[in-house]
Amino acid sequence: MIPGLMQTTPLLTTSILNFAEAAHPRREIVSRTVEGRIHRYDYAGLAERCRKLANALTKMGVASGDRVASLAWNTHRHLELFYAAPGIGAVLNTVNPRLFDEQIVYIMEHAQARVLFYDATFAPLVERLAAQMPSVERFVLLADEDGHQPGAVGAENYEALIAGEPDTFDWPVFDENAASFLCYTSGTTGDPKGVLYSHRAVVLQAMAEGLASAFGFTAFDVVMPCSSLYHATAWGLPFAAPINGCKLVLPAEKMDGASLQELIEGEGVTFSGGVPTIWTMYLDYLKKTGGSTGTLQRVVVGGSAVPLAMAESFKTDHGVQVLQIWGMTETCPLGVIATPTPALAELGQEALDQAIWTRQGRLQFGIELKIVDDDGNEAPHDGETSGALMVRGPWTIQRYFRQEADVADADGWFDTGDIATLDEFGFMRITDRKKDVIKSGGEWISSIDLENVAAGCPGVKVAAVVGVPHPKWEERPVLVIETHEGANVTVDGVIEFLTPRVVKWWLPDAVEFGAVPMTATGKIDKKCLRAAYKDRLMA
Ligand code: ADP
Repeated sequence: MIPGLMQTTPLLTTSILNFAEAAHPRREIVSRTVEGRIHRYDYAGLAERCRKLANALTKMGVASGDRVASLAWNTHRHLELFYAAPGIGAVLNTVNPRLFDEQIVYIMEHAQARVLFYDATFAPLVERLAAQMPSVERFVLLADEDGHQPGAVGAENYEALIAGEPDTFDWPVFDENAASFLCYTSGTTGDPKGVLYSHRAVVLQAMAEGLASAFGFTAFDVVMPCSSLYHATAWGLPFAAPINGCKLVLPAEKMDGASLQELIEGEGVTFSGGVPTIWTMYLDYLKKTGGSTGTLQRVVVGGSAVPLAMAESFKTDHGVQVLQIWGMTETCPLGVIATPTPALAELGQEALDQAIWTRQGRLQFGIELKIVDDDGNEAPHDGETSGALMVRGPWTIQRYFRQEADVADADGWFDTGDIATLDEFGFMRITDRKKDVIKSGGEWISSIDLENVAAGCPGVKVAAVVGVPHPKWEERPVLVIETHEGANVTVDGVIEFLTPRVVKWWLPDAVEFGAVPMTATGKIDKKCLRAAYKDRLMA
């Protein structure tokens, strides 16, 4: 080999900030604040405040490699931390505030952050747990200076902290493999695990995400992330949007239908993304109010499978295209996205829509996929045979934070814990998470498929399916339904709806009605449902 003779400019997140300031200085960033105001500035304003924050962090003694933690919503102040902390070589540990206290304490203990930035919403949480966060030397409240409440932890004020700082700062240039973000999985199985993103992974992933064959961003797009900044960097949108000169709209914690509608219509949002629960609420709101989706063109949905009824309603009632994505904290976090291909387009619009709504995504440059059987042999790409989904690539995890051994195998393959099929067009379909698949009499039932069919039943808001112990079949499905307000849904009605749509042995043995519990990352809490119904079929 002879070395190439091109520049070795490292891929650092500050290169995105610098680029946006140079190329799109006046493109707007609109943020709801926790105080309830709307804050407006632009990429030049963001870059300026990031430099002030970088000075403040440096003055605090935050050094390269140190962890800085945040407990914060989707706001401009949190966005500033996204750039300033990694920009000086520190690591931003975005803590998910919806986790249980013990998990938050575990993460704080594990990550050893020296400074904690938090929104006023979380003041009670911080005060309750501060004594169990001995690594934290300073607490900073992300709030207006007016009416600042230092609370029991004696928090400094964010605005006061950066106010007197110079707006110049020489961002250091360092190895692109340096850590930038520390994101923990939600710990539905065991303790949360830390995934330590490198600058390189974040930048490469964000570049790929905006491509025409993925989110298809242009400088005309107005992007509103409804995925949380605290959960795996809001699917990389805070980076992909500036790379493409998109206007950015940050909804803070207000993800209810009315609040989203206000921003979508008022700010001309063209593109948004979030977990299915958010869109269920939004579609409900539109139905109730007869509202329109305004300029909205595309919605990416992931984190859990997209209910087909949701994608259909977006398209037929509102002319909005739903694109399904799949990813996980371990894939930084966007893995694949289901976008059209010429081969599928030949089958006609309806078949194309069905294909991209019911598949989690398709092979894309930067992430390799394979499915393997129990012995580790590769399974065929026939769209039928399912296997354990393995991924690898430049934004896939190698090893969890503070663990001795790699989690990827010797060839770089990471076992996602998902069960999937792959087809001849490179489309991937998740049939279940390994631990959620229902084993009935030696056969497998896909809880996701069954949920998807049940979600189409009129009056059903959320459908959840879990396998529960059965005296004869080992496990059988129990369907738990949360209905829309005022809807009259009966057990017989549900079974009648399902019967022509699924094979007979997939029909649930019991249908229950009630609120469906959700995890801190917006997924159906199956652990909780399995525990609640564990004896339901044993009588
Ligand atoms: P958590 O911390 O809750 O595990 P992640 O975002 O890391 O949060 O969860 C990743 C998992 O979410 C994936 O392994 C997969 O099981 C599930 N998931 C993500 N996107 C989809 C999707 N479009 N359809 C079905 N499951 C999905």
